[in-house]
Amino acid sequence: AEDKRESLYLVSEYASNYFQTTLHKTDQGKAIGLSYFKERGFTDETIKKFDLGYSIDEWQAFTDNALKKGYKLEFLEQSGLTIVKGEKRFDRFKGRVMFPIQSMSGRVLGFGGRILGNDKNAAKYLNSPESELYYKSKVLYGIYHAKQSIAKEDNCYLVEGYTDVIQFHQTGIHNVVSSSGTALSSDQIRLISRLTKNITVLFDGDAAGMRASLRGIDLILEQGMNVRVCTFPVGEDPDSFARQNTLGELKTYLDENAKDFIQFKASVLYEDSKNDPIKKAETIRDIMNSISKIPDRIKKEIYIQECARIMDIREQVLFSSLAQLNNKNA
Ligand code: ATP
Ligand code: MN
Ligand code: MN
Ligand code: MN
Repeated sequence: AEDKRESLYLVSEYASNYFQTTLHKTDQGKAIGLSYFKERGFTDETIKKFDLGYSIDEWQAFTDNALKKGYKLEFLEQSGLTIVKGEKRFDRFKGRVMFPIQSMSGRVLGFGGRILGNDKNAAKYLNSPESELYYKSKVLYGIYHAKQSIAKEDNCYLVEGYTDVIQFHQTGIHNVVSSSGTALSSDQIRLISRLTKNITVLFDGDAAGMRASLRGIDLILEQGMNVRVCTFPVGEDPDSFARQNTLGELKTYLDENAKDFIQFKASVLYEDSKNDPIKKAETIRDIMNSISKIPDRIKKEIYIQECARIMDIREQVLFSSLAQLNNKNA
């Protein structure tokens, strides 16, 4: 089993080098891939640091090449890089810019590949399928490059996408990782909590996405971490915002706009429901459900006082709601 994992590591490593060579050394790679990254404002240094690459727009260019070098079809298939259909073999990634996903220690586990341009009908990102190396819920994009800075700053920024991580680095903020579009899992939180107990979740600037993500954050509270959240202006995400601002401006923005998660959730939900008694009752249950996840009892009480103030209700109402939740969960 260890041999097999090692073979998958080697195939992934080879693929990452191949995609980088394609980006930097082929006409198609340079004309399409490299100019795409340049248009997004990535410098050569950034492109190298994150080992960004390009997969050529042909049916089996990568697979043929890897087989010729002696990599076994078995492992190419298991890594998801090659799709086998009967006698035919296809490259999974074609005509995409490539983002290798690295483990905590820097080994390549899988890839994200982005189409060029903004065709609304095509899936924008394609990821490696799960394999013995790559478990979506156990990796965080950027963790290898972020780990030292997360420990040093004693805080971790969590963003939605690959490009947010990369653009933050280029601007000068290094304690940043991405869960790559999925809700944060408890394994991913554990990975971070070995380095810091403080997470700041950065939301893309669209209200629907932000509201949808609020519930997932309870999982972070459950592990006893301190959570802050920060939103960006409508239409912006951390990548686009960082690109338009200096490091000083970005830092100031983050400092001024990061809010304690419970306070933030209480005010958002309160604004949504203050004129509707039924909604308001739901809201109270929702926020108390979050608070009930916090292991520390003193913190719990402070949050209850705080929420009573924000939502304009008596503390007693919140305490009895908490008691009800505890009974239900017991
Ligand atoms: P870009 O700036 O390149 O357009 P983004 O990173 O801002 O992309 P979002 O739409 O904000 O993209 O999505 C955030 C993350 O969710 C992406 O970085 C990617 O990891 C994941 N994602 C987005 N669309 C898809 C998809 N169609 N399939 C799988 N993952 C996706
Ligand atoms: Mn988004
Ligand atoms: Mn985005
Ligand atoms: Mn973006």
